[in-house]
Amino acid sequence: ANTDHTPTLQETDEKYLWHAMKGSAPGQEHTVMVKGEGAWVIDDKGNRYLDGMSGLWCVNVGYGRKELAEAAYQQLIELPYAPLVQSHVSAIKLAEKLNSWLNNEYVFYFSNSGSEANETAFKIVRQYHHQTGGHSRHKFISRYRGYHGNTLGALAATGQAQRKYKYEPLAQGFLHVAPPDSYRNHDEGNPLHAAEEIDRVMTWELSETIAGVIMEPIITGGGILMPPEGYMKRVKEICEKHGALLISDEVICGFGRTGKPFGFMHYGVKPDIITMAKGITSAYLPLAVTAVKKEIFEAFSGEDTYDRFRHINTFGGNPAACALAIKNLEIYENEKLIERSAQLGERILNDFAELKDHPFVGDIRGKGLLIGIELVKNKTTKEPLEVDTLNSIISTCKQKGLLIGKNGDTVAGFNNVLQLAPPLSITDEDYAFIVKTIKETLAAL
Ligand code: PMP
Repeated sequence: ANTDHTPTLQETDEKYLWHAMKGSAPGQEHTVMVKGEGAWVIDDKGNRYLDGMSGLWCVNVGYGRKELAEAAYQQLIELPYAPLVQSHVSAIKLAEKLNSWLNNEYVFYFSNSGSEANETAFKIVRQYHHQTGGHSRHKFISRYRGYHGNTLGALAATGQAQRKYKYEPLAQGFLHVAPPDSYRNHDEGNPLHAAEEIDRVMTWELSETIAGVIMEPIITGGGILMPPEGYMKRVKEICEKHGALLISDEVICGFGRTGKPFGFMHYGVKPDIITMAKGITSAYLPLAVTAVKKEIFEAFSGEDTYDRFRHINTFGGNPAACALAIKNLEIYENEKLIERSAQLGERILNDFAELKDHPFVGDIRGKGLLIGIELVKNKTTKEPLEVDTLNSIISTCKQKGLLIGKNGDTVAGFNNVLQLAPPLSITDEDYAFIVKTIKETLAAL
């Protein structure tokens, strides 16, 4: 036996690292990545892949941005932390910059991940109601198929049973309603049926027990579900009618992914709370935000220390992440990446239009660079294509040098939506490569 075999990176990875979501399908083995440039990543064997998922919907400005690394480095040598939760310059400047995207209407609480941003939002909302006379308001409503994070509260808000059932009991007081689904359309003839359901649930549960609603403007992880015209606006009206607050989870939809700074901006609403993560630093460092309307923040300014928000987050808003985020937001602005996302989103739906004749393509949908292709065996019954075929499409794309994802409604046995969400900074050549690779791969089915 060869006892002095030096383990490869792959072997050490297999031995010591726990990748919970590791692709178990053939051709989706883990790849050890070593470098990124623009929209491309390179593995330890020198293979190049166009990252058609922006990491996990996060590397929006692409890889290899030295100015981001430099902003973090400068801040780290200047001041890596502000003791005892004092303030620091980068947090203040970032707050100013973010508010310039939000009409100066919000106050920001920083944390480190999308899950934490949502947990923080739930606690703020419950405490807000306590301090404004709504003592019994504790329940949150969210939609089946939506994902809001991995912690016991954010997971309770998540509407994907497959991620939850072995970890129960989760946080209490979370209810779910059906999402709108423009393709499978369970709307009983009323396009706003799914919104009206929230009204009925709030009434049945008693308005005075309802704290809020959390929703993504477009459900991303559960299958890129496009809402009908007027849906989010109607949900906001229903929240107002019942005295509930609306939280817009912009962890994926924010920062240009859908072609606007934030997803809710397509729908003519102003959420009471906005949660953000991923794209705020383009994933170069962890940072998340819970943005609250000023009126909500004011309910926490009482003399009694128990009227304050009693919530500690050691790393939240750390100086290096904030400094990097400021530079990252400047990149979106200077390179007009949000406008580019909107334009490329329209272009890709046009370029993919011919795929609608493909026998397995049931639906192609999205906004900006958030695209889903729903594959079915039968276009009339909409019976989903088997996951094995999706896996083989994904592996073929990877062999051709394009990384894409899939999702759907796993509980119902649907894992049939191909996902595409490349960096907003892709070049025209990158764009052409994506379109060509997807078309060729589907044509070969
Ligand atoms: N909300 C949404 C919509 C998400 O997609 C995610 C992560 N994919 C989260 C929240 C949780 O973010 P994190 O993984 O940073 O905790």
